[in-house]
Amino acid sequence: MILLGSTGSIGVNALAIAQQFGLHVDVLVAGRNIALLNQQIQKHKPSVVIVADGVDLSSIDHPRVFQGEEAILEVIASSSSMLVINALVGFAGLRPTLKAIECGKRVALANKESLVAAGAFMDISKIQPIDSEHFGLWYLNNSSRPIQRMLITASGGAFRDWPIEKIQEATLKDALNHPNWSMGQKITIDSASMMNKMFELLEARWLFGEGEYDAVIETKSIIHALIDYCDGSTTAHIARANMQLPIAYALMGQTDQKILPSVNLLEVGSLEFREITVERYPIWEIRQELLHRPKRGVVVNAANEAAIELFVEGKISFLDISKQVIHAFEHFDEEPKNIEDVFHIDREVRHYVRSRA
Ligand code: NAD
Ligand code: MG
Repeated sequence: MILLGSTGSIGVNALAIAQQFGLHVDVLVAGRNIALLNQQIQKHKPSVVIVADGVDLSSIDHPRVFQGEEAILEVIASSSSMLVINALVGFAGLRPTLKAIECGKRVALANKESLVAAGAFMDISKIQPIDSEHFGLWYLNNSSRPIQRMLITASGGAFRDWPIEKIQEATLKDALNHPNWSMGQKITIDSASMMNKMFELLEARWLFGEGEYDAVIETKSIIHALIDYCDGSTTAHIARANMQLPIAYALMGQTDQKILPSVNLLEVGSLEFREITVERYPIWEIRQELLHRPKRGVVVNAANEAAIELFVEGKISFLDISKQVIHAFEHFDEEPKNIEDVFHIDREVRHYVRSRA
């Protein structure tokens, strides 16, 4: 496999699955955690390594090290591996996703921003999502029964129990204090704002087609997805909050081995469901409109990435992230007509959000 983002939260779990099942890692791509990357090189013996920044080239213990996006695209084309795991974060993951599909390779896709920004312009049949909710939906949807609605769950993120008026004082450290999952910085912030769940609704829309999609908070993150069937039955996917299960399926398609210990319902005891409200999660206001015109995901994604950068730099508040995204969504009404438009709109929106800060 070709693993993009090997030192991140998903990347590390993907390597654990690779090791458990003896899968060969041909290429490792990572950002700037060089110490961890060197350990991974020693263990998995890839034939090529790529890092984000040229200054790190000499610190990598490998004879074939390259740098930057072009090198990533080239290695996707030249490697004999037919599986690309995209665990990069943000819009930077889009070109590698497109390249892998163009080369006829299978993409195990954690980089949901690829789908959010450009789902309309990619061959979905080549994609296996690495996201617990979509894995749950896929797992449940193994029947010919007519479906009424697909539902995904949210943890509620760092501020789900905060008094609403206090959220405006939230710091970066507060936003990173996720109740149920240990993940990378950006997705943890997206969980706190509920942007992550909106992205996942869009992701579901591209993966499973038109239909009714919604989300609800389940505070223990034990249920990941539910399907309401037309007959009045609802089925639920229950598993521990651990990404190794969706990763194992995305890498191997099927497994009959134990990936996680089963959930002990007596230990869980009780479950609590809550509504996702606009008062606590202002971004939820644009959800219907976005799902109605899903190609506008590129605007929301670009505005969100630019606003998160500003928040991390201390230039805007946590709630300003949602305000900036809603504003950009209203300002940029156009839909991309092709993939070139996606890159163009992405640039325009980022520039606009930064210029308003
Ligand atoms: P992370 O920040 O922990 O890891 C990102 C990885 O990408 C790191 O290895 C980093 O070094 C690498 N990287 C970043 N920029 C790079 C660049 N320019 N060149 C090369 N490498 C670069 O993020 P994560 O939590 O693992 O999330 C990755 C993706 O998976 C995101 O799109 C996220 O939304 C999605 N996802 C994550 C989880 C989770 O549990 N963490 C669950 C579902 C989906
Ligand atoms: Mg998810």
